[in-house]
Amino acid sequence: MSSSEAELLAEVPEGLLIAGAWRPANSGARFAVHDPATGARIKQVVDADVADGRAALDAACDAFPGWAATAPRARAEILRRAFELVRERAEDLALLMTLEMGKPLAEARGEVTYGGEFLRWFGEEAARITGRYGSTPENSGRMIITRHPVGPCYLITPWNFPLAMATRKIAPALAAGCTVVLKPSELTPLTTLLLAQILRDAGLPDGVLNVVTTTSAGPVSTAILTDPRLRKLSFTGSTPVGKLLLAQAAGNVLRTSMELGGNAPFLVFADADLDRAVDGAIAAKFRNIGQACTAANRFLVHRDVVEEFTRRVTDRVRTFTMGRGTEDGVTIGPLIDDRAVRKADDLVGDAVTRGATVLIGGNAVEGPGSFFPATVLGNVPADSRILREEIFGPVLAIVPFDTEDQAVHLANATEYGLVSYVYTENLTRAQRLIERLETGMTGLNVGVVSNAAAPFGGWKQSGLGREGGPEGIEEYLHTKYTMTPDP
Ligand code: NAD
Repeated sequence: MSSSEAELLAEVPEGLLIAGAWRPANSGARFAVHDPATGARIKQVVDADVADGRAALDAACDAFPGWAATAPRARAEILRRAFELVRERAEDLALLMTLEMGKPLAEARGEVTYGGEFLRWFGEEAARITGRYGSTPENSGRMIITRHPVGPCYLITPWNFPLAMATRKIAPALAAGCTVVLKPSELTPLTTLLLAQILRDAGLPDGVLNVVTTTSAGPVSTAILTDPRLRKLSFTGSTPVGKLLLAQAAGNVLRTSMELGGNAPFLVFADADLDRAVDGAIAAKFRNIGQACTAANRFLVHRDVVEEFTRRVTDRVRTFTMGRGTEDGVTIGPLIDDRAVRKADDLVGDAVTRGATVLIGGNAVEGPGSFFPATVLGNVPADSRILREEIFGPVLAIVPFDTEDQAVHLANATEYGLVSYVYTENLTRAQRLIERLETGMTGLNVGVVSNAAAPFGGWKQSGLGREGGPEGIEEYLHTKYTMTPDP
């Protein structure tokens, strides 16, 4: 580890943020965070238990009336200041993400830009929370429709985008006037801790944002979710954990937003611009080392262009460099842990046993570090597990198709419905596909769809609710309708 890395790590707060103070756990316990590129322990943070989780919720409940009553403009200004501080500390945040999660530094910088934008966007949205006033159709009275923050919220984030997944939840919650208990992934708590410090530096009052780092996600979450004072759960993570949390949230009929798994189809038609399609494929597959819910999981390519497309993506993959994300020129960092490497290895092994061809990559790399090389698989048989399960690794699996109907049928043949990608130059076909693909988002001739101003979210088992855009703040607002007589 370099001296600048050590200095940055020393600066990251290691306590629980509760009621405006960094605290140790009740039990005094701590846990280690590792660099997935080396396997080395890089820092210890506090390991909260159930009592700590309750204390964080106490703080969020105490702070709620004051924050809800704070002028939207004042809330907006704090978010704006936080956005500016994120920009000022972009290099620190990027390096921290690379150290604890592994993504190449250039991509981590991109995440700082994307993640920071939620603070600015939702700061601006805070001032636009409005209601309606109007007569009933019969002129029998007047309707007043007002919006109110839902209350204290519990936000749970995954490890793959440690900054953006946090700001995508925190910013709309705070903009709406809600207070927050945030639980980051135990694999990547450091970025969240630095972000929390930045929000404090931006002037966020005590107790409005509380952060609980823990290796006991289940018990701590159950204690918070079953507390009748909590009003909302927002979760980003895997579909199985999401289902479990939805069941728990049902107990108190909580408002919920669930951003869950994906199995994105990437459709390339014979009339596609292949240069664009190859660029899009590389971005949609290998960004974040394939560890994105939006990662293209299945490449469905028309038989007339499949050979050319396969050759071109394989040539591009041949130019990749694998290594620690801090090193210049690295395009493929490590996966998050050895379990992720074994999963990629198993999925590739299964596809090959069934008849897929390995065109490049294909085998896990010996440690230290959790590396799996960028891999391209051709002619992947329909019954392969890799076409049904979320790969979450740098493996590009190609399946040829013959007709548009067949492509649509294959694309929709999954319980997931987060995002789809379509490459065609035929406008009428594009319009048909927008209507036929069962996904919450579609990249039409583009390989990355995320934007703070857009409603991000899935259909089917990919989730409930939206993050980003005007829809994103709705998730944190109640609607109230008041009936009054005709004046
Ligand atoms: P995960 O479900 O294992 O963990 C997500 C979070 O839930 C972590 O903070 C974890 O500590 C916590 N958690 C785990 N078990 C829990 C329990 N029993 N109770 C409460 N909390 C619990 O997912 P992950 O491996 O961190 O992230 C990868 C998954 O996230 C993938 O499936 C990916 O598609 C999904 N994801 C979805 C989106 C989206 O916007 N749809 C974005 C990013 C990631």
